[in-house]
Amino acid sequence: MWIQRCQLCLRRAETVLCASCWLQIVPLDYSEQSLTLALTTGRGLAHVCYAAYASPLKQMLYQVKYHSAQKLAYALGVELGRWYRSRWPLPDLLVPVPLHSTRLAERGYNQAEELARGMGKALNRPCCNLLERSQNTPALHALTAEERKQVLQQAFVYKLEAERKLNSRILLVDDILTTGSTLSSAALCLEPVTKRIVSISLARALIADPLL
Ligand SMILES: [Zn+2]
Repeated sequence: MWIQRCQLCLRRAETVLCASCWLQIVPLDYSEQSLTLALTTGRGLAHVCYAAYASPLKQMLYQVKYHSAQKLAYALGVELGRWYRSRWPLPDLLVPVPLHSTRLAERGYNQAEELARGMGKALNRPCCNLLERSQNTPALHALTAEERKQVLQQAFVYKLEAERKLNSRILLVDDILTTGSTLSSAALCLEPVTKRIVSISLARALIADPLL
């Protein structure tokens, strides 16, 4: 008989993680969950973070990125959606931050899309790939905040006809927040079709660079 095991500690589990590993993910304090990312237009982008980028979430996201843990990404998305539902206004649709097609082909899936699909399931809202990554940006973790901003400028394109106004409440979804440049750049790309954008990340990394 096939036994499901926790993807982190390998103990028997009912879902992709055992109950004890789920409990180790502790959401941030209320005061740290909500922040505003600066857009180059001068407007702010409301942002919500679920937890710190620390153990065990850090190991989970490593599995998701490098060990094909697609189901884990989706399950984390469902968890994130359940948490979000009782705290924040519901969006009309969820939009994942896209991966460039080359990286998508390497990994086989976009972890932000799996998170968004999981959230969509928990929130009963559709997940739509409205954005495309037009440039294959280099790995961002070694770059400073300013370098990230430069690299990410015009990294995204909106996939539908530009004149089509959505005016929907969009929740932009990404896995890890560092400087906020990726989400800001993606949000700017959506601004011509809707101004009602908020964003969320599963984990917030703490780096030496200022957030804004
Ligand atoms: Zn476990």
